[in-house]
Amino acid sequence: MRPRISFCVGLFWAFSCMGFAVQAQDLGPGFTKVKDGIYVFSPDAGTATCSFVVTEEGVVMIDSCQSPLDSRKMLTAIKKVTDKPIIFLLDTETHGDHTGNHFIFSPPATIISHEGAGAGMRKEYNPNRPALVAQSAEMREAVQGAKMITPHVEYKDRMTINLGERTFQLIYLKNVHSFADTAIWMPKERVLFAASAANVRRFINLRPSVVIPDVLASFKLMKSLDPEVVITGHGGVTTTKVFDEYEAFYTLLLKRVGDMAAQGKTLAEIKKDLQMPEYADWDDQERLGASIDAAFRSVKR
Ligand SMILES: [Zn+2]
Repeated sequence: MRPRISFCVGLFWAFSCMGFAVQAQDLGPGFTKVKDGIYVFSPDAGTATCSFVVTEEGVVMIDSCQSPLDSRKMLTAIKKVTDKPIIFLLDTETHGDHTGNHFIFSPPATIISHEGAGAGMRKEYNPNRPALVAQSAEMREAVQGAKMITPHVEYKDRMTINLGERTFQLIYLKNVHSFADTAIWMPKERVLFAASAANVRRFINLRPSVVIPDVLASFKLMKSLDPEVVITGHGGVTTTKVFDEYEAFYTLLLKRVGDMAAQGKTLAEIKKDLQMPEYADWDDQERLGASIDAAFRSVKR
């Protein structure tokens, strides 16, 4: 204990130590303390995950939460843990449920994403936020004054951020989900923020730009890092088992779609006939069609 006590001597360090001692239950429902100074906010299985990491020099956030109400819960939680400012906000993807609330955190946060992210956000952002506004009067109120803030920094392929005692490696994941997807790897802590190539037991809305072999390659790459903890774009804190689950799903899907295409079936016929009963308990079943579209593109390449 002696080194730890001496580490906490002095007002500055005393505050840091107090902050790191905050438990997730003190922050409210949906918060998980992953490791000292690393907290994840995952309100439920479907809502976009957002996270924060405390360093000696300030806070690093990952994604900006699904709604302004979630973002405010996040800000309150950060203030309970530390009085340090948010230095960086790292985007794992471009979609509005992850990036639409940059304005809550920036300024002061500098927003970082992969090349092409700003253009992608401008293409998709709807300032009226209709899906949120439809939820409640409170939400309608909360989105007032919302504005798109695109990334201040766009990196290419890889970027390393050293802040205080921590290192964040940003790794571009090509064609896996949005206009620009980034995995964020903390090598010392062995914590991986894995974007939305895999989620937790739900069908993903695969856009036309998604290439399933590239998705499978991203799983291989992320597993090779050997993370202890994995945080995906939606769903609770997990492990590399999500990559195995989605790899099995896509492999089976490619096999079935490939066999049916080889029999001469059209995409419309395959979508009508193909079922994946092994995954009947996954959420968002209505998105199976988008997965079949993506698989059909892959087998026809
Ligand atoms: Zn998304």
